Amino acid sequence: MLTSEKIKKYAKSCGADIVGITSMGRFEGAPKQMDPRYIFPEAKSMIVMGFRHFRGVFRGIEEGTFFTAYSAMGYAGINYIQQPLVLWNVSRIIEDEGYEAVPIPNNFPWGNTATSGQNPEKTGKMNPDLSRPVSPDRPAPNVFLQLRIAAFCAGLGEIGYSKMFLSPEFGPRQRLAAIITDAPLTPDSLFKGKLCDKCMLCVKACTVQAIPKDRTVKITVAGRKLEWADIDMRKCSVGFCGGSKHANPFMVTSEDEKRFKQEVGNAQRYKLHPMYVYARALEGAAGCIRACMIHLEQKGVLKNKFKHPFRKRKPWRL
Ligand code: SF4
Repeated sequence: MLTSEKIKKYAKSCGADIVGITSMGRFEGAPKQMDPRYIFPEAKSMIVMGFRHFRGVFRGIEEGTFFTAYSAMGYAGINYIQQPLVLWNVSRIIEDEGYEAVPIPNNFPWGNTATSGQNPEKTGKMNPDLSRPVSPDRPAPNVFLQLRIAAFCAGLGEIGYSKMFLSPEFGPRQRLAAIITDAPLTPDSLFKGKLCDKCMLCVKACTVQAIPKDRTVKITVAGRKLEWADIDMRKCSVGFCGGSKHANPFMVTSEDEKRFKQEVGNAQRYKLHPMYVYARALEGAAGCIRACMIHLEQKGVLKNKFKHPFRKRKPWRL
């Protein structure tokens, strides 16, 4: 028989680091374009999995000497290799039991709605230029599944002020994926702890000031009020591609300065080719991951403990 415990144990044996289960009912109130119940109306459960970033993938960027590990083994490696393999294997045991499994990796650019950072006014609203509904009672494809909200619904942790998902195991150091299924699984209870203490270190350390300290997004999910910074996604998308000259040692010439600051698609292809098709995260998440991770480790609130602190010396700045 397929049980929540069996699924979680198997998913971890396949390579997921954290696994939680939510009922589909917890998405009640979601905007139509962001409501995963339209993906599989008869679904009963969603299995949400987290895949850690090793702390070591940030080491080379922290030292300013090796920038590949985060993009290759963090970003794209997890999205394009680790997650699909685990989603395949977990979906297999679900379907062996005669239930359907809809695997959703952390990379789905066909979403038909703006996210809060892209365009707050249009968040959750249909973009008529991208696609049209197949019938009036359904959203236009694709429904956009906000995986951080799904992870919250599955009891895996909370969304921090930085908008990163924070788990008690790894803080902001994971990427998420999900499987929607009609298997009737027992949902986990929502996370009761508190990780984000609004220390604002993420705001201070972001190299392109993409995290505002005074503008937030507020929503209610499964009866719980959630709030995070209303991230300037344009600044963020330029920043993570190496748009800040103080944080990008590959920015040598004035041409570099101009080209590294282009919109995300173009900037990503300039000078350093992306890892696994698209990943070229040169900034190494200075605020939303590194500053937050260091702070939560110092507070001793994370389960994945290290023998030595991450930050060994004064951070470099060009
Ligand atoms: S750095 Fe501080 S304010 Fe930002 S998400 Fe982490 S705990 Fe919250």
